[in-house]
Amino acid sequence: DVRIGVLALQGDVREHFAVLTGLGAEAVTVRHPAELAAVDGLVLPGGESTTMAKLAVRTGLLEPLRDAVRGGLPVYGTCAGLVLLAERLLDAPPDQPTIGGLDVTVRRNAFGRQAESFESPVPLAGVPGGPLSAVFIRAPWVEEAGPQVEVLGRVGGGPADGRIVAVRQGAVVATSFHPELTGDTRVHRLFIHMVRTSARRRAQCAT
Ligand code: GLN
Repeated sequence: DVRIGVLALQGDVREHFAVLTGLGAEAVTVRHPAELAAVDGLVLPGGESTTMAKLAVRTGLLEPLRDAVRGGLPVYGTCAGLVLLAERLLDAPPDQPTIGGLDVTVRRNAFGRQAESFESPVPLAGVPGGPLSAVFIRAPWVEEAGPQVEVLGRVGGGPADGRIVAVRQGAVVATSFHPELTGDTRVHRLFIHMVRTSARRRAQCAT
């Protein structure tokens, strides 16, 4: 079966790890380029994107991560992971590098001080079974999305009504919120399915 890495520089690595293994996938931590080279898919956890970006540079992972995403490795980013996947950032230190892969402009800490953390139902395209209970923690949102980007979910109601909080572009999927904290495994199952499909396709191409 497939092996899914969790970028383990900082953030809620353990929670993603638990969800993936609970769903029967093999999960491994990724801290070095050699570990990245051995996975069929990668999760970028929530945490602090500025710190993660710095650590990615220091560990020599940033360029390999960019190459992997460009090469079609399936990647799922939550919260800080969404920030790392954005091509363009707002409200970030000007020198904060990203991996890219999503043709989006992401605003960090977008929901403001009033909403350090909150929970809200978000229906997700391609995820049946009703809206997800989305947990937002100092969350970013997608301020603008390019034409190749599929918008999967938006906030419904409140001051952030209509803001984009879930997107997909090819093999890259990202959410502003944290399904790994809620016990609702539907997004992880969708991602594991993407990884399996991609691994099967790669295997066919190799023969
Ligand atoms: N505010 C954090 C950042 O921009 C993300 C918060 C989170 O991942 N829960 O990196």
